[in-house]
Amino acid sequence: MTTWIDAWSRTDGDTRARALFAERFGAEPAGAWSAPGRVNLIGEHTDYNGGLCLPFALPHRTYVAVTPVDSDRIRLISAQEEGVREVDLAAVAPGTVEGWPSYVAGVAWALRQAGHPVRGFDIAVDSCVPYGSGLSSSAALECAVAVALEDLFGLGLAGTDEGRTTLTGICVRAENEIAGANTGGMDQAVSLRGQAGHALELDCLDDSVRQVPFDLTGHDLALLVIDTKAEHSHAGGEYAARRAECERAAELLGVGTLREIGLDGLGDALADLARLTGPEGDGSAVAEVLVRRVRHVVTEIGRVQEFVELLDDGRVDEVGAAMDASHLSLRDDYQVSCRELDLAVDAARSAGALGARMTGGGFGGSAIALVRADEVERVAEAVAAAFDDAGVRAPAFLVATPEGPAA
Ligand code: ADP
Ligand code: MG
Repeated sequence: MTTWIDAWSRTDGDTRARALFAERFGAEPAGAWSAPGRVNLIGEHTDYNGGLCLPFALPHRTYVAVTPVDSDRIRLISAQEEGVREVDLAAVAPGTVEGWPSYVAGVAWALRQAGHPVRGFDIAVDSCVPYGSGLSSSAALECAVAVALEDLFGLGLAGTDEGRTTLTGICVRAENEIAGANTGGMDQAVSLRGQAGHALELDCLDDSVRQVPFDLTGHDLALLVIDTKAEHSHAGGEYAARRAECERAAELLGVGTLREIGLDGLGDALADLARLTGPEGDGSAVAEVLVRRVRHVVTEIGRVQEFVELLDDGRVDEVGAAMDASHLSLRDDYQVSCRELDLAVDAARSAGALGARMTGGGFGGSAIALVRADEVERVAEAVAAAFDDAGVRAPAFLVATPEGPAA
């Protein structure tokens, strides 16, 4: 028996959020908005290194029903959380909001910080994006709030890609400064700027994007997402440690971001790092670690370019090798995989997947596998059986197709 996480239709999602609002706040909301979770095809841990990544927006979305109020009071309810919460928007600052309301209040705060005339509101949230599965339920929530507030307060930002880029920055600030999660900008960018039928090639150096046609069904392929349900408590600390290592390596090498090294410069950069941090350099024992981290980031950016070229050539069924190589690099050089992710990837490949890799930050969350469309069920069953044999908690599955952005 395999468990599938189905996406709600937009109508169902809107109806759920509106009904929750009416039930808790005793009135109809002014409107309903939603934003998608995402899956990243390739380009992991590259966003904060000024690199490239290739996410797309999922059919799974977070829905919000909202009514503005004529004060700074925010009242919040979520179908995924207990009770009604209240936050004073005027008092929001880093470290002041506990728990999930920080993602919502953070967006209102960041809009205000940017000079936009945002006031308080009542909000009801419901979502079919699984939490903490590496599919970015946090960005889905922020981006749904962002498009709701920009519409309600007439900010005129969601109508253009430029405005949506501004909203992306707002949501990133909310997550970094108010929710206190030091993530890069990939999740918010794709939730606000992804397009149906396309993967989003995102250049994190300047936030520019290119919509890359990504047609799975035309090639009789499907992208199977395996939610391992694994959550490792050290994930946040490890993420911060990787970011710090990348910053240290860039500083030692005298580059603004690791992106600047490029595949051509990789050999020299790795030799320089080993020298600068080895016995001849400052004597610290970090050389080997930094060499691994830099090798992952630089080769991963190269794999995004390779993947995009294959998609541009219509050779979708040939991207598997880049996915496999990405996983090995994340497992061995960046060291952010875990037993459950490796198990999912190995089992999917043994069952005939064309390629498979962990996706998202790592230490749990989800893996993706590119499979023949008529083999989705069989590969999922094989992965579930491998988890069962290993005595690991059963995973859940979803089939990912690229859908539209926050609206
Ligand atoms: P991910 O983004 O990979 O799903 P995160 O840890 O970044 O995982 O974000 C999950 C957090 O975002 C939740 O713990 C909660 O605080 C908040 N969140 C996401 N979706 C909702 C929701 N539907 N209702 C309330 N809070 C949510
Ligand atoms: Mg998140």
